[in-house]
Amino acid sequence: MPGRKPSKTDLKAFEEQLRLMLGVLRGDVSHLEAESISQASADRQGDDGDSYSLELSLELLQRGGSTVGDILDALGRIQDGSFGRCDSCDGWIRKERLQAIPYASYCIECQRQAEAG
Ligand SMILES: [Zn+2]
Repeated sequence: MPGRKPSKTDLKAFEEQLRLMLGVLRGDVSHLEAESISQASADRQGDDGDSYSLELSLELLQRGGSTVGDILDALGRIQDGSFGRCDSCDGWIRKERLQAIPYASYCIECQRQAEAG
């Protein structure tokens, strides 16, 4: 099932999440702070029945799987309207993937192909 273009609400949530992750990576925001902010933003959402799982992303950060550069790139893509599009096949990245990894620049299929070599 292909993904679709993120809605404005989605983009706002992803932007918030990315800024929070950036804050944590730069040391401006503590993990505790980030968790309480993410909890507050999860409470506000749910217009389409999903909750955003920022905790998962924070775990990823802790494992060192992301860089400030990745997150700045993703924020740039939100600004220029290309956020959520796969860099390789130009398809929309599925929302579930973006919720887990909001700075992902490839869809899961292209990511797998890249990893397979
Ligand atoms: Zn792709």
